[in-house]
Amino acid sequence: MRGGRSGVHFTRESTLNMKLIQISKTGGPEEMVLVDAPVPTPGPNQALIKVGAAGVNFIDVYFRIGLYKADLPFTPGNEGAGTIEAVGPGVTDFGPGDRVAWGMFRGSYAEYVVVPTSQLVKLPEEVDFKTGAGALLQGMTAHYLSHSSFPLKAGDKCLVHAAAGGAGRLLVQMAKMRGATVYGTAGTDEKAAIAKSGGADEVIVYTRQDFVAEVKNLTGGKGVDVVYDSVGASTFLKGLDIIRPRGMMVLFGQSSGAVPPFDPSLLNQKGSLFMTRPSLAHHCLTREELTWRAGDVLGWIAAGKLELRIDKTYPLADAAQAHRDLEGRKTAGKLLLVP
Ligand code: NDP
Repeated sequence: MRGGRSGVHFTRESTLNMKLIQISKTGGPEEMVLVDAPVPTPGPNQALIKVGAAGVNFIDVYFRIGLYKADLPFTPGNEGAGTIEAVGPGVTDFGPGDRVAWGMFRGSYAEYVVVPTSQLVKLPEEVDFKTGAGALLQGMTAHYLSHSSFPLKAGDKCLVHAAAGGAGRLLVQMAKMRGATVYGTAGTDEKAAIAKSGGADEVIVYTRQDFVAEVKNLTGGKGVDVVYDSVGASTFLKGLDIIRPRGMMVLFGQSSGAVPPFDPSLLNQKGSLFMTRPSLAHHCLTREELTWRAGDVLGWIAAGKLELRIDKTYPLADAAQAHRDLEGRKTAGKLLLVP
């Protein structure tokens, strides 16, 4: 790696190479190719991190297929954890040897990555790299959904779709922490058991049960206060039928496809409903907000109050298989890549 630019902490010369996943053309999983590249140099307010593990998320798929735009070529992966090797000029709050994690900076499918320190949080001693790498993106999402989009309180009732999924199962647990009654949906009986083990009060297998009828039944016809929907196309419209008057639809993903345009007067017809389509970035706008959410998530994991279920770990070279499994509805929890 190059020395000189970053000053005191940079000691080695610039000849180190590393492996990373590169996408030169958007498309299928096969477009993710393992290549050699020079280890980068951290610039001002950045840190060079040796990646311990990288989290795999649906957002990586959206960048890979070109639904979300990135300049080509690029390295996917918004989430990871590892050890700081070097810091750039101006960095005072982090240093070499620090164990850190991030959930909102692209380039994690690599042996080394440079991340702005504004995106980093220190890992508690109790949290290893695999858990740290998988906790922040979906964990902070579950946090803002349950604490900010619709701040749940004791006695509220909510429906969480894909409740055995990465974001879903963390949301189930946080909703229970806030005292809500939690109904979940899952694609198979096995996934339903995984959602239940996260604390869901009832889980509906929505591939064979009608979740609208089931939720009406469970709520005595009244409906839930909020639906948290990450599934999108196949669930969104039906979800509007089981929200109480003036309740909220929180559509935060589209694992089954995008929701088609609809007439806003539908929200009136269904009971003066509120609707939001939020994203994590808009809920971590300041360093204070980021450290609040990340601190809660990592603190709860360290204290054993929140369980991150790691479904499968793949070598970095098998990133394509991880994407196939995620898109193929085969997973229940976190997928990780280990360089
Ligand atoms: P999940 O672990 O939830 O995986 C997706 C799950 O969706 C599947 O396992 C499956 O569960 C369910 N699903 C239902 N229909 C389909 C289908 N046709 N194809 C594939 N999956 C389907 O993934 P993530 O937790 O990583 O993400 C879930 C969604 O949340 C994504 O759309 C993601 O972009 C979004 N998200 C949004 C964020 C935000 O801030 N807005 C942040 C984080 C994630 P089952 O078989 O049980 O139905």
